[in-house]
Amino acid sequence: MSSARAETKLPIQEGVPLKPYTTFKIGGPARYFAEISTPEELRAASTFARKHGTAIFVLGGGSNIVVSDRGFDGLVLHPARRGLDGGTRDGEKVLLRAEAAETWDDVVGFAVERGWWGIENLSHIPGQAGAALVQNIGAYGQQLSDVFEAAEVADFATGVVRTLVAADCRLAYRSSVFNTSGRGRYFIFNLALHLSERERPSIEYKDLSAWFAERGVTPTQREIRAAVIQIRDRKFPFPREERGGNAGSFFKNLTLTAAEYEKLEGRFRSEFGESALGRLREIRKQGVSPASARIPTAFLIEVCGLKGRRVGGAQVNERQPLVLLNQGGATADDVMSLAREVRRTLYTRLGVTVSLEPEPVGFCDAELRAHLSLE
Ligand SMILES: Cc1cc2nc3c(=O)[nH]c(=O)nc-3n(C[C@H](O)[C@H](O)[C@H](O)COP(=O)(O)OP(=O)(O)OC[C@H]3O[C@@H](n4cnc5c(N)ncnc54)[C@H](O)[C@@H]3O)c2cc1C
Repeated sequence: MSSARAETKLPIQEGVPLKPYTTFKIGGPARYFAEISTPEELRAASTFARKHGTAIFVLGGGSNIVVSDRGFDGLVLHPARRGLDGGTRDGEKVLLRAEAAETWDDVVGFAVERGWWGIENLSHIPGQAGAALVQNIGAYGQQLSDVFEAAEVADFATGVVRTLVAADCRLAYRSSVFNTSGRGRYFIFNLALHLSERERPSIEYKDLSAWFAERGVTPTQREIRAAVIQIRDRKFPFPREERGGNAGSFFKNLTLTAAEYEKLEGRFRSEFGESALGRLREIRKQGVSPASARIPTAFLIEVCGLKGRRVGGAQVNERQPLVLLNQGGATADDVMSLAREVRRTLYTRLGVTVSLEPEPVGFCDAELRAHLSLE
């Protein structure tokens, strides 16, 4: 790794290994790397990238990406500005502003300490606050879009900072303008959330309601946060250096129309018999909308017998098969090959196409086509 002060005033390092910046602990180096705190630094970085003809990638906490074994042949920008500013009141509504590099779970802790409701179920999701907006993080019955107010972002093309409100961000299940039509276009500097001083526990989600039903208490906000952390830690291995890593859910869950769901039932009957079909129907009953079925991909991976499946150092987690683990020494190629096997099996046996949740970074088009092909 070397360090060069670019023509701009922005210190830009070269050949920086990205593996330590990711929760998967996988991936090669960034050709260029810079930390960004201010709009001026961002403009300097954009100018540098244009001059050198390189692509830009914004790297937050690295918990929702798979970096290729060759690394990223461009400029990686790492948000560096932290800070939380809360307390603007509007009736019972409280506005909390978080700078992009703030650890998301610290944002949740800050809100819970003050009795501000709305994000306690999103406890212990890794990553930075800025990135929480990119995939509209969600868990245990809450998602960021429930409380999102506005974000200050800069467009790389112009360097101009502007405020985007919820309608501009087009937040949906694990998606937003930032990972769809506007992918690679913006740098998020901060976000503002509207939380509530009025108690509003949201514990209908299956695991949470069972947790509190067993204990027979109406939970406080702190108890909800503590319960979410304990439930998560039991089934979702938090990535740690000594036992490799992961990027959380590797596959998105499925939302099927009534007709698609009918087809899936047919496949279940012919592939796995009546008992598996009964389990599928039970899951279907738990869905909220009669018009569409939300089917957990983990269940499909399990019935296809893929739990524990391994390619090189990558493995489908036995306890939560939505997660692919780096069992030590896994390469990005191992992970993507394993993901391909899972997706192809679900496609050929069940006729469903599941999408990846983490973003592949630094792969060329041909590699991506090969990894994502279902043929
Ligand atoms: C153990 C584990 C559990 C998880 N559980 C959940 C869960 O329950 N629910 C859930 O929704 N997700 C979950 N995730 C996924 C992940 O934590 C979230 O997607 C998180 O928001 C990613 O944040 P990050 O800072 O690590 O982003 P990164 O992985 O660094 O980046 C993700 C994307 O955001 C972009 N980005 C990052 N910062 C900025 C910025 N400031 N401006 C513009 N673009 C930016 C990147 O370019 C990239 O496209 C889990 C991950 C792990 C490892």
